[in-house]
Amino acid sequence: LWLRARIVPVVRAVERIAEGDVETPLPRLQGGLGGRLVDAVAAVARTLAETHDAATTDRLTGIANRPAILAALFSEVERAARYDRPLAVAFVDIDLFKAVNDTYGHEVGDVVLRGVAATIRANLRAADTVGRYGGEEFMVILPETDVDAAAAFAEKLRQLILGATFAIGGNGAVSVTVSIGVATGVGRTLRVEALVRDADAAMYSAKALGRNQVYLFEEPDEDARVPRAP
Ligand code: GH3
Ligand code: MG
Ligand code: MG
Repeated sequence: LWLRARIVPVVRAVERIAEGDVETPLPRLQGGLGGRLVDAVAAVARTLAETHDAATTDRLTGIANRPAILAALFSEVERAARYDRPLAVAFVDIDLFKAVNDTYGHEVGDVVLRGVAATIRANLRAADTVGRYGGEEFMVILPETDVDAAAAFAEKLRQLILGATFAIGGNGAVSVTVSIGVATGVGRTLRVEALVRDADAAMYSAKALGRNQVYLFEEPDEDARVPRAP
C-alpha cells in the first residue's frame, strides 16, 4: 500500500507527459529506485520538450517554422468554426529582399530577417502567432480579428517595419519595407486553403501596386469575390 501511494502519482504524471503535456511536474521521490525512476522520466520529458522545440522552431529567427505555423492555422480555423468566431491571416513579405542580400551580403540579410521577425513578434497580442512561411515571408494568425481590426494591425506593422533600422557591422544600418496581404473570415465558412490562397493573392496585389502597402482580400458575400481597394 505504501509503495502504491508513492507510485500512483508518478504514473499519473508520466501518463500526462505521454499525452504531450511535457511540462507536467513530477512528484518527488528521494533516493532509491523511486528517485531514479522520477529522475529518468524528468530527463525523458526534457529531451521530448527540446526535440519538439527543434522540430517546430525556425532556427534563424526563433519563431514558428512553416509546418508549425500551418498546424497553428488548422487549429485556429477549427476553433473559429466551432465557436463561430472571426479569424484573420496576414502574409508579410519583405520587399526587394534579394537586393539586400546582393548589396550587403547574406549575413546582413539574415540580420534583417531576424529583425523583421522580432519586430512582428514584439507587436502581437497574446493569442496571435507568427511563423516563417517562406524565405522572407511571414504568416501571422490573428484569432478573434475581423477585417477592420486586421487591416489596422497590418498597417501598424507595415509602418513599424518601415521605421525600423537593423544594425549591421560598424555603424551601418539597413531598413526594409514589407508588402502585407490580409484575408479574413468567420466561423464555419473558414477554410485553411482559402485563407492561405486569398492572403497570398492579396500580398501579390500589394506588390503589384508598388510594394510597401497593405492589401485586403474580403469576400463580401458568397456569390461575389471582390478584392478591396488597398
Ligand atoms: P519582392 O519585393 O517581389 O518580394 O522581391 P524579393 O527580392 O524580396 O523577392 P525574391 O523572391 O526574388 O527574393 C527573395 C530572396 O530572399 C531571395 C533569397 O536569396 C532570399 N532569402 C530567402 N531565405 C533567406 C535566408 O534565410 N537568408 C537570407 N539572407 N536570404 C534569404
Ligand atoms: Mg520579397
Ligand atoms: Mg517572398
